[in-house]
Amino acid sequence: MAHTFIGGVHVEDYKNTRRAQIRRMNPAPQRVCIPMCQHIGVPSVPVVGAGDIVDRGQLIGEAGAGLGCPVHASVSGKVTRVYDRIGATGSMVTCVEIENDFEDRDCKSIKPFEKRLGETSPEEIIEIVKNAGIVGMGGATFPTYAKIQSAIGKVTSLIINGAECEPFITADHRTMLESPASVINGTKILLKALSLRRAYIAIEDNKLDAVAKLEELLAGSELIKVQVCKTKYPQGDERQLMYALTGRELPLGKLPADIGCVIFNAATAAAIFRAFAKGMPLIERVITVDGDCVREPGNVLVPLGASAMDVIEACGGLVKQPHKLIFGGPMMGVAQWDPETPVTKGTTAILALSRDFEAVGKYEQPPVCIHCGKCGEVCPVYLLPNYIAEFELAGRLDEAERFGAEACVECGACSYICPGYFPVTQYVKNAKSKVIAAKRRSGVKNAR
Ligand code: SF4
Ligand code: SF4
Repeated sequence: MAHTFIGGVHVEDYKNTRRAQIRRMNPAPQRVCIPMCQHIGVPSVPVVGAGDIVDRGQLIGEAGAGLGCPVHASVSGKVTRVYDRIGATGSMVTCVEIENDFEDRDCKSIKPFEKRLGETSPEEIIEIVKNAGIVGMGGATFPTYAKIQSAIGKVTSLIINGAECEPFITADHRTMLESPASVINGTKILLKALSLRRAYIAIEDNKLDAVAKLEELLAGSELIKVQVCKTKYPQGDERQLMYALTGRELPLGKLPADIGCVIFNAATAAAIFRAFAKGMPLIERVITVDGDCVREPGNVLVPLGASAMDVIEACGGLVKQPHKLIFGGPMMGVAQWDPETPVTKGTTAILALSRDFEAVGKYEQPPVCIHCGKCGEVCPVYLLPNYIAEFELAGRLDEAERFGAEACVECGACSYICPGYFPVTQYVKNAKSKVIAAKRRSGVKNAR
């Protein structure tokens, strides 16, 4: 029987690109604009300047002190400027702009790791992953080396997240289907780093072709098992996935490692394998490009730093003016105001959607809570979102906190199900950020 969790919603999946083979972005971008912060943590420090000639995979941003992550050139060419702009998260970020010379020259330092996996130590694997600038590619963007470090000696379960529960997105699905060996080998490297003997690759049951492909390659393997999960949103959230596979619940303020689990995205595992086997840092990623405004939706291997518009142009351009441009899925993605926004290590999808996908505004009555209680039924972390939303509207933060606003995983399921089109997720998110800010102001250290 397929694994699952309590709550959640069955969303229309719009996986229109599930059969679209991954293709390299063509034409390649004329220029890329590579943000120095594509991860959670301290921004990287540029080590190149205007006029420098760089190669693919060359270090262009050194990891900042603390929780840092290096950044590399995604094309060969000439650095034209280092400047600040608004990035995909809406914050100001320093970027290195490179004019592509289309020579695809790889940096000379790029070479496979010289040892076999069996002879490689966990410390060496952490170093490879760190130097490759790998982060959580499901959108979380937490530096992967730090996640491995924090899990060593603490976890008993390694889970590879291939659930990909957000509507539209099929990038991981296609990666598992077209490069299953990369995902499997990346998983083996993680097992070695964590000194574990068993990993699970979790996949929703709307991707049974990927399940079959991986099971075929893993036949007889005791190390790695494929686990099929029910297709339900947000199955790909770490808490829900852990619960579905192990029955363990994550208490508020705890990390998965605190309850013996560590989870890496399937694309992250594949990137780890590439870094180990080829020495290539994370400089490109598969992105689903879709939405009713895109002429030729598909899955595209994109150099990091390419602009959203260049990626869409490589998919035949627009058939109509989008009402919304989203990085990520429609449930948890971030709407972009600037089509020149560069893609980053955490960009899973680019969606260009018309007004037809907008529920609010299509109906006569204004958004309102009719107290039906449906949002409480679907909330995967058992909140009462309508109560928290009303406390937020009334400015009663103490009550919002008492009702657990901090535990919200921002999945959007409550807004999705709401028959009154009440923007309940937004209010809960606001309450959550205010509660956390208030706690930090009063010196609470582990406020999330
Ligand atoms: S916010 Fe929406 S789903 Fe929740 S109780 Fe109100 S009307 Fe129902
Ligand atoms: S309250 Fe938060 S966690 Fe619960 S359904 Fe809404 S967005 Fe998801």
